[in-house]
Amino acid sequence: MQELETDVLVIGFGGAGASAAIEAHDAGAQVIILEKMAEPGGNTRLSNCSWFSPPPGTEAQAIEHIDALCLGRTDRDVIEAYVKSAGTTKAWIEGLGGTPKVTHFLSVRYPQVTHPSWPGFPGSAAMVNQTVMSPRDSEPNGERLFMLLHDNVEKRGIKTILGAPAKELLTNERGDVVGAVAEKDGETITIKARRAVVLTSGGFEFNDEMKARYLPLNPFYGIGNPGNTGDGITMAEKIGADLWHMGVVVGSFGIRAEGFYAPFSINYPSPRFIYVNKHGKRFTNETGWETHFAWQSLVAYDPKKPGYPTLPVYGICDKEGLMKGTLHAGTAGGGRHYKWSADNSAEVAKGWIIEGKTVAELAQKIKMDPAVLEKTLSKYGEYCEKGVDPDFHRSKETLQSLNTGPFYAVEMWPRMVNTMGGPRRDGEARVLNKDGAPIGRLYSAGELGSLWGHLYCGGGNVGEALAVGRIAGRNAAAQAPLNS
Ligand SMILES: Cc1cc2nc3c(=O)[nH]c(=O)nc-3n(C[C@H](O)[C@H](O)[C@H](O)COP(=O)(O)OP(=O)(O)OC[C@H]3O[C@@H](n4cnc5c(N)ncnc54)[C@H](O)[C@@H]3O)c2cc1C
Repeated sequence: MQELETDVLVIGFGGAGASAAIEAHDAGAQVIILEKMAEPGGNTRLSNCSWFSPPPGTEAQAIEHIDALCLGRTDRDVIEAYVKSAGTTKAWIEGLGGTPKVTHFLSVRYPQVTHPSWPGFPGSAAMVNQTVMSPRDSEPNGERLFMLLHDNVEKRGIKTILGAPAKELLTNERGDVVGAVAEKDGETITIKARRAVVLTSGGFEFNDEMKARYLPLNPFYGIGNPGNTGDGITMAEKIGADLWHMGVVVGSFGIRAEGFYAPFSINYPSPRFIYVNKHGKRFTNETGWETHFAWQSLVAYDPKKPGYPTLPVYGICDKEGLMKGTLHAGTAGGGRHYKWSADNSAEVAKGWIIEGKTVAELAQKIKMDPAVLEKTLSKYGEYCEKGVDPDFHRSKETLQSLNTGPFYAVEMWPRMVNTMGGPRRDGEARVLNKDGAPIGRLYSAGELGSLWGHLYCGGGNVGEALAVGRIAGRNAAAQAPLNS
């Protein structure tokens, strides 16, 4: 058994962990970071690298906006602290050697990303996101951001232990957290933390049991870091932490392909498509969903039958719709190394996109009643001619008939970006117990117990990792040390 000691122990080396470690170190504390995986970076490294940092003078609007999105499920001090800290993230990143740049999400694909964030909610214009250019500009997306943080951790000589999952939090007789037990290569490592422990071990995207227990859909496939299995949530709950936002999840749906653990997102480049459920019927306004919440269209149930009537979902388009451009424009997550063809022909050849010369032939190939799918398309064609969709109220300009064969289907399943739930924290990033009191010397940040309590604004998670990670690191370092 190995025994180590430090001032601040950070559990999880993604964006929140790196930010907490850098800040704690710069406040004068000795820091150790424990990382479960052989490679650090977590979801942060796989992300699209868009992070919230409000322009000066817009903080009050941003607070109002996030408060409205959270629907009363997040304490106001937590939102205020996040926004205040996020307002300084841009300068902090510059101080680390990065060059931030305002970024806008691609908003012309379906399901859409709304920009600015949720325009119908107050304060939307303040939700400005940045991305980072860095000395490693050739790296894609979150890789750029994470390697900037990583290089800064390394430069400071912060000790990192990779391939070493934390297993348990250690507490003293007062219930304060005084360290953790981890494992590496079959050996137990006990690390004593003189000042505090910061939990930044991410969500539970890859824990099937927790997903089944907490999420509104099942199955729900992760696309990020397979190491995010809710370990920190379990460890914190075991010592009395209150949990919040466990059912909040961000995602849409995508195609599962052999050899890839993460489903690919399908983002139609034009409105020339519909979704049908497994029975061949439309079930939603296909062009009306914000991409992070498109999964909500799948939660419907049929009181007369078990299971989800929507799953699997099929995206249906015609030849002209297919030729509008690549159906997968993703550059992040588990499928990022695969280059989807610009005209989708490679994926048709692989059978990922299923082709039928006629609607009936397509229906047979996807094991659907041809008469039902034909009726769905002909009824939809009538709506397109009239410019009105009485069933699901698609806007007139998106009503484009699917009338040029061959026809194409993509089978899709719920695909999540990340979970939000975990231990509840306060504005000082202290983990709270079930009575609402802080658990001594335990801090948290990032998507583990994220502040997003209902809806979510793109950029809000990496933004939170960077902003709240620094609050946690600073406050952890400020604790008076326990005697050795
Ligand atoms: C494909 C994709 C794209 C995204 N794009 C964006 C975006 O553009 N903007 C945005 O705001 N959000 C985005 N998100 C979400 C965002 O990336 C994450 O929510 C955020 O980066 C989480 O940061 P974190 O530090 O809390 O967790 P992570 O970065 O996931 O880090 C957690 C770390 O803890 C480690 N860990 C887990 N268990 C243990 C244990 N027992 N012991 C030690 N270590 C452990 C994990 O291996 C991991 O390295 C995206 C997510 C994905 C998957």
